[in-house]
Amino acid sequence: MFLACGDLIQASRERRFHRTDSEVLNLSFDFQGNLSIRGKRVIDFELTEEHIALKNTVREFCAGEVAPFIKEWDEKSHFERSVFEKMAEVGLLGVCIPEQSGGAGFDYISLGLVCEELEACDTFLRVAMSVHVGLNSLSVFSWGTEEQKQKYLVPQAKGEKLATFGLTEPNAGSDVVGMRSYAKRDGDDWILNGEKMWISLGDVADHFLFFCWTDQEKQKVRDHTGISCFIVERTMPGFSSGTIHGKLGIKAGNTGYFSLQDVRVPKENMLGNEGEGFKIAMFSLENGRYTVASGATGVIKASRDASVAYANTREVQGQKIGNFQLVKQKIAEMEADYQMAHLLWLKCGYLKNEGKPSAKAASLAKWQATIRSETAASMAIEIHGANGYTNDYPVERYLRNCKAAVIYEGTRDIHTLMQADWALGLKKEKAARVILPPYEPSEAKGTVG
Ligand SMILES: Cc1cc2nc3c(=O)[nH]c(=O)nc-3n(C[C@H](O)[C@H](O)[C@H](O)COP(=O)(O)OP(=O)(O)OC[C@H]3O[C@@H](n4cnc5c(N)ncnc54)[C@H](O)[C@@H]3O)c2cc1C
Repeated sequence: MFLACGDLIQASRERRFHRTDSEVLNLSFDFQGNLSIRGKRVIDFELTEEHIALKNTVREFCAGEVAPFIKEWDEKSHFERSVFEKMAEVGLLGVCIPEQSGGAGFDYISLGLVCEELEACDTFLRVAMSVHVGLNSLSVFSWGTEEQKQKYLVPQAKGEKLATFGLTEPNAGSDVVGMRSYAKRDGDDWILNGEKMWISLGDVADHFLFFCWTDQEKQKVRDHTGISCFIVERTMPGFSSGTIHGKLGIKAGNTGYFSLQDVRVPKENMLGNEGEGFKIAMFSLENGRYTVASGATGVIKASRDASVAYANTREVQGQKIGNFQLVKQKIAEMEADYQMAHLLWLKCGYLKNEGKPSAKAASLAKWQATIRSETAASMAIEIHGANGYTNDYPVERYLRNCKAAVIYEGTRDIHTLMQADWALGLKKEKAARVILPPYEPSEAKGTVG
């Protein structure tokens, strides 16, 4: 006898299965209470107690450590490094990295929840999670040798070192193979040269992924199998960096550039095999886009919440502005966009937990959440009237901050074209030598909460 899906989920909550049901369906629960049928986990949109506790921890962290100061940091373009030491103390900088690699051992949905909560406070916090965890640590975790994991991933996951991702160059953003950085072999070492631009945490991070050509013949014909990836340390001779000033938003965050001039690295610092750099970059972006999507969802939520609070207090013509239909419409759209964006990243997190390809889901979630966050922040300003145009209220910061996410990790146009190609059958999830390992629950958890 089989139970209907709805009954199964209900039963999973109530833990009531007849022995025969369990036997026929091979039902099991992991320690988090997730239900599996014949070894496959059932989708459950309800967050676990652990997820809720994590969300609350991040919310409290933001309320205590960031919210009281963010207006000033943003106004002064001040990067407060101590915030990351505190994030490290609670385990956020390695939230979804297994404990044996120095992390807190939570699942990938937890990474999304952390990003959503952090960006609801300020984008600079989520950007750090994107580059440190999404673009760098998860790549070292998946592609790295055991030696690289011990040397680089463990201190990153513990938050002792900050890490970032250097792909973009002054003349090569969307056009990755247009990069000019290169490396030449010298015995057991590689000599690296190049300039990376628009790098989040570029002037403050300790560890960098550096993408460059290692085959100049392939560079001439733009064959991406001539690109490789190296792990670079700030302290290596020949490394220099600087901060980019005059940004529209994310003023409390560091965006920079770095330059490598004859930086000598041992061959052990190559991540993956020679010629796999492009694949690593795309793999990294798949994870990075997931964090950008969940973060942008946080901007929609923050815009909605600020608008609701304002609409419930501001009075015009003797009534709350929340009574006006067109104010209601904006709030309704923010609510719908929040729910849709949240579901899109949640699906992506589920695919990651299962070890399934998520490039298409991450692109869709990132594309939709970022453009909707811009609309939500803009509408939130309008609901606040003139007050929304000043930094006495946070909504103008939301609008300035969220614009960059429409550009980085694939512009709006690039994702539009990618989604069209997927729909037209012109693009497929490609089989890869390395995949993001599925989430393996364990009883013990690192710090967080
Ligand atoms: C705040 C911030 C932080 C960033 N952090 C990082 C980081 O940590 N690491 C990193 O490596 N990079 C980072 N970037 C760089 C970012 O990824 C690039 O800016 C982005 O990839 C776009 O590249 P571009 O700026 O060179 O624009 P371009 O590629 O020059 O694009 C310009 C315009 O042309 C369009 N276009 C380009 N190519 C095509 C095409 N083939 N088809 C259709 N339209 C096209 C684009 O959609 C866009 O509208 C960051 C950028 C910002 C703003």
